[in-house]
Amino acid sequence: MKSTAGNTGGIQKKKMNGYVGFSNYPNQVHRRSVKRGFNFTLMVVGESGIGKSTLINTLFDSKIFPDREEMPPSAEPVKGVDVTSMSADIQENGVKLRLTVVDTPGFGDSINNEDAWQPILENIESRFDAYLAQENRVNRSKISDNRIDAVIYFIKPTGHCLRVIDIEFMKRLHTKVNLIPIIAKADTLTAGELELFKAKILADINYHGIQIFKPVSDEFDDPETVADNREILSKIPFAVIGSEKHVERPDGTPVRGRRYPWGIIEVENEEHNDFIKLRQMLLRSHMEELKDTTDMVLYENYRTQKLLSMGHVQDNNVFREFNPLVQMEEEKRAHDGKMQKMEAEMSGVFQQKVNEKEAKLKQSEEELYARHKEMKSVLEKQRSELEEKKKRAEASARPITPMEQQHPTKGKKKNIFSGF
Ligand code: GDP
Repeated sequence: MKSTAGNTGGIQKKKMNGYVGFSNYPNQVHRRSVKRGFNFTLMVVGESGIGKSTLINTLFDSKIFPDREEMPPSAEPVKGVDVTSMSADIQENGVKLRLTVVDTPGFGDSINNEDAWQPILENIESRFDAYLAQENRVNRSKISDNRIDAVIYFIKPTGHCLRVIDIEFMKRLHTKVNLIPIIAKADTLTAGELELFKAKILADINYHGIQIFKPVSDEFDDPETVADNREILSKIPFAVIGSEKHVERPDGTPVRGRRYPWGIIEVENEEHNDFIKLRQMLLRSHMEELKDTTDMVLYENYRTQKLLSMGHVQDNNVFREFNPLVQMEEEKRAHDGKMQKMEAEMSGVFQQKVNEKEAKLKQSEEELYARHKEMKSVLEKQRSELEEKKKRAEASARPITPMEQQHPTKGKKKNIFSGF
């Protein structure tokens, strides 16, 4: 078999003789991105009081979630799970970030939490749908992307294995969103308990075939990145503490943390908890990867399933319409078209025959008329000849009087009146 590789022309490595400037491209991309700013949409899921708002405010070092006292009192306690979102524009070293935090109040708060995952899944899918609808518009210059880039799932620090609600939630959502499970309020467990708890959680996750977001290194990563990724990976699921308050170290330095009678727990101390690793992965090293995975893997899968379920078929990576109703309609239209064409052809032939017949009739009518005219003139001629003959016969039958013999003209005249 002949190789087709030659058709592409192959790719040759060329050595350049000097600097032309395209190596500056990453800087151009960097400048353009900084100018535009970034969007990041983060969802937090966990029962009330587990530390969601504290952790988000700690992560972004700002009051993304207002204090409870500042929040308007709700008229009625939330029944079931609600999905609310809040956005904030934050800036660091000139880089603008539009952060949207999607909260899920009510999750895990009911006696029966069987379907607690449902409204959250619906919300995630409706964001995909909104994006898909925008992609399908004629004008796609301004697509607003509200897709969830990551879900931080707060696991209660029980020290036992995962609860049914945890497993159910993660199983239902792991193909739709980047899942980042964390052990909340890690300061309530000892280091030994945490180690054991992490192992149990990972075992449950593996057992149920749940995909969680993990940093993966590839051949293009430098050794430092590979080592960082390995470090992050070793801490999953992150056991974190949150605190917006500052406490004093024994040396008097103020740090964010929690005070206990036996000492302080520092948020940003890797020996005390995994907050630093969570922040590193989420904001410092893998934010773009989270967004890419959302766009290229999770959304892409959802889009494919959605379009297939709507009756589209994929053909050489291009979707085309395949809807039985649409197909029947098309067949009917094609059939109607054929019938119309046949009718037009038939009426054309018919009209032609009529015209031919009419022309023939007209011709024979003209021929008849001509023959009639000809016969009439023949008859006329014969009649006048006969009359002439008759006159001549009459004239030759009468005797000539002596008078006529002497005065042919006179006698003729007299003869005219002779009958009276
Ligand atoms: P949310 O309802 O999930 O948003 O929970 P909050 O962030 O409002 O926290 C509820 C309570 O837990 C507050 O009193 C917080 O101070 C406390 N809290 C938050 N994070 C931690 C933590 O990491 N450890 C401990 N011990 N308490 C925490």
